[in-house]
Amino acid sequence: MAAFYLVLITLNALCAVLLCISGVLRQKNYLYSLALLTVWALVFNALSFKLLSTSALEDALFYSRIHTSIILLVLPLFTYTFGNWSRFRHTNTLVLLFTLCCAILLVINAVSAVPLRFGVVEALVSYRTVFGDTAYVIIAGSGKASLFFHALTALNIVLLLAFAYRFYFARKSVMSLVLMVTLVLQLLAAYVGYSIDNQQSSLVYLGGVPLTFLSLVCVLLLSYSLKQKTVQLDEQTQKRIALETAFARLAEDVSIENPAQFYLNTLQTLYEFSHADFILIGLVRRGQEQLVDTKTVLKNGTRVPNFTYSLRGSPCEKVYAQDACYFESGVAALFPDDVFLTEQQVESYIGMPLLDGEGKPVGILAMLFCQPLADKQNLLQLMKVVSVRVSAELRRHQLEQKLQKMAYFDYVSTLPNRASLFDEINSTFYHCQKTGNKAMLMLIDLDYFGDINRKFGFDVGDQVIKQLGQRLTNYASKDVFVARNSGDEFAVLLKHVSGETTSVLNVHWTALSAILAKTCLVGHRQITMQCSMGAVLFPQQIANRFDVISASEHAMQQAKLKGRNQCALFDPGILARLDYKRQLETNLKRALHASDELFLVYQPKVDINGKVCGAEALIRWRGKDNTIIPPAEFIPLAEETGLIHDLGRYVLRYVCTDLLRWQKAGIAMPRVSVNISATEFEQDGFVDELLSLVAESGVACSSLELELTETALLRDAKRVVSELTRLRQSGMSIALDDFGTGYSSLSYLQELPIDVLKIDKSFIDNLAQPRSAELVKAIITIAQQMGLSVVAEGTETQQQVNELTAIGCQIFQGYYFSKPLTFDDFSRFYRPTLPF
Ligand code: C2E
Ligand code: MG
Ligand code: MG
Repeated sequence: MAAFYLVLITLNALCAVLLCISGVLRQKNYLYSLALLTVWALVFNALSFKLLSTSALEDALFYSRIHTSIILLVLPLFTYTFGNWSRFRHTNTLVLLFTLCCAILLVINAVSAVPLRFGVVEALVSYRTVFGDTAYVIIAGSGKASLFFHALTALNIVLLLAFAYRFYFARKSVMSLVLMVTLVLQLLAAYVGYSIDNQQSSLVYLGGVPLTFLSLVCVLLLSYSLKQKTVQLDEQTQKRIALETAFARLAEDVSIENPAQFYLNTLQTLYEFSHADFILIGLVRRGQEQLVDTKTVLKNGTRVPNFTYSLRGSPCEKVYAQDACYFESGVAALFPDDVFLTEQQVESYIGMPLLDGEGKPVGILAMLFCQPLADKQNLLQLMKVVSVRVSAELRRHQLEQKLQKMAYFDYVSTLPNRASLFDEINSTFYHCQKTGNKAMLMLIDLDYFGDINRKFGFDVGDQVIKQLGQRLTNYASKDVFVARNSGDEFAVLLKHVSGETTSVLNVHWTALSAILAKTCLVGHRQITMQCSMGAVLFPQQIANRFDVISASEHAMQQAKLKGRNQCALFDPGILARLDYKRQLETNLKRALHASDELFLVYQPKVDINGKVCGAEALIRWRGKDNTIIPPAEFIPLAEETGLIHDLGRYVLRYVCTDLLRWQKAGIAMPRVSVNISATEFEQDGFVDELLSLVAESGVACSSLELELTETALLRDAKRVVSELTRLRQSGMSIALDDFGTGYSSLSYLQELPIDVLKIDKSFIDNLAQPRSAELVKAIITIAQQMGLSVVAEGTETQQQVNELTAIGCQIFQGYYFSKPLTFDDFSRFYRPTLPF
């Protein structure tokens, strides 16, 4: 018996501890009170043992009194515990009622002569228990108060029934069953107690056993539910980690620039989280809003070919029209028109719309499962994030395409622009170098396009470019790239040229010029254009890909020079000349600042008596390598580049310095003439600057003569006359250089305030021809009549001198007398008279 009760007590102690722990874990009061009940059961069992094993009546009565008190204490606590647990509405009232009744009975139990349960006590008798030991039981009649006590325990049993029903109602059927079993045990224990008291049983008191059973089962149930919760929590944690990993991966994918790769990575991330049977990104086709073209599709995590499907009758239609949409099960039956769902036995579906910048749907992100949807919340959360990311990526891609289009396409002609042309040339160049193929760039320039803009305005000009651009678009093919190079220039790149270059060029020229020559209709205007074309073959003609465009531009200039409406193939010699010119320009700039590279030589002018009557200052350039570069080579370049102004000042200062040196040396120099280029003379303020420069030097203006060519004097007659007049008034004399090579209007000459006419060497060279001699004679006669002195340039022979003298020429300049001389040589050469 002791062992039996010990087991019960130990079990109760264990349960009490575990229930306390559960109470702490779950923060539930009813678990604390159940723990207390278990402690009560423990005490009850201990007292039962004490009661049964006590052989003295007095002691037995004492223990019996406490035994009864324990039962009375248990009743309100029991009601409190299970009333709260089962959420019984009147728990508090019942607890109050029980407490009150039990308190009264406790008092009665404490003050009455015998314990509450007994009336008249007869004896203490022993009996042999089922465990083989001896137990003692009080033989007594039942007292009046015991009725009340039994009524209360009966009420407790009724409440137990009510609580069991509550648990059942709250779908806690296990708990309900446990209470019912406890109830049965309770009745059994009561019966056993009754039969012991009436000496009909050899069992022991089992009053605490139902409570022990109840506590034990509760502990087991609680630990089971705790385990379930832990598993659930574990699962949730796993899911959360998976979700966080998925988010992290999505964030990493931000750096992927290729959209296709981005979509694939994103869907794979979704798959790893969801294990969906199908995941897809689809975009609604523009203009055909019912069709979706998939961009990426995964089947069981593996990419499968894209396809097109109709939105109509599919769950995606709902997504597209509304918002996020999901069907937890039976989706194939819900959308019988969607054959795919039936064929693939799709059970559940989640879809999210993909939105453009204005929030309008443009596509769909969808997940399809062949099982009912599980973990809906997490999936929806992830899908939401992914759809926002994909939408953003779509917008970024669209924007990028738009920007690329803006950067690589010409707005007016809708053709690729110069930047794309560069790219295309680059890749073609590279490809040709690798394969040994030939390619040709043809640049087409519209002749006189500026006139269209000037006459009709830029809008009309743009319309013409647009129409021609559209025509050329049709000329483009896999091997022919067409672009707008600049303003009125189109480019046609033949990526693969086979056959003879000139015939290929001619074929394309014929076709292209015909295409462009067709009349454009702009409003009511009919505009017909013609063009010039320059072409270059590469890499054969051009070693550097950066020179392809400029080479074809040069070729085009050649075509224009030939008289426009023609085509020309690039001449590599032009490039060499250009390089030389560029080099020359750099060197000339340097030479202008170097002290010894540029210097002057003087060529004497001799009169009919052999007297040196003047000298022409001529520039010389001794290059770094000591070679002399002739002025005919660098003067035109200086004029082209504007360096002529610096050069002109340089020469003038040089001449003035030399004149002063001669003056100092006591040599009475005749007039020295200085060549002035047309570009210099045309510049505003030229005369002022020249006069002040001379004045600054201290040289008398009368020591100088200015040689100007006809080109310089032809433009703006009024200004020319006034400037020349000012120069003459200063004391300078004016010579018209190279007469006969330009406009050569004698009547025009009449109006110009000049002093000297220099007949060009070409006439002197041809003096042997009678016609030329006649011409020179006429010039001399007229010039003399106009009061001009005449100088014969380039006189090389005695015969020329004789003939010129015969026709009235009085001044000569040429190798016959002297080549141009340096300062020192001229000083030595200069003598008042030369023998004829
Ligand atoms: P230009 O003013 O007509 O000068 C005469 C040119 O004829 C000089 O050539 C001279 O050396 C050359 N010449 C003179 N007599 C003979 C001859 O008997 N036979 C041959 N074959 N040639 C003769 P150069 O010095 O080469 O100058 C060429 C041109 O360069 C000049 O033609 C002038 O237009 C220009 N030039 C020279 N120096 C200057 C300068 O300081 N400033 C400017 N703006 N132009 C200059
Ligand atoms: Mg001259
Ligand atoms: Mg000349």
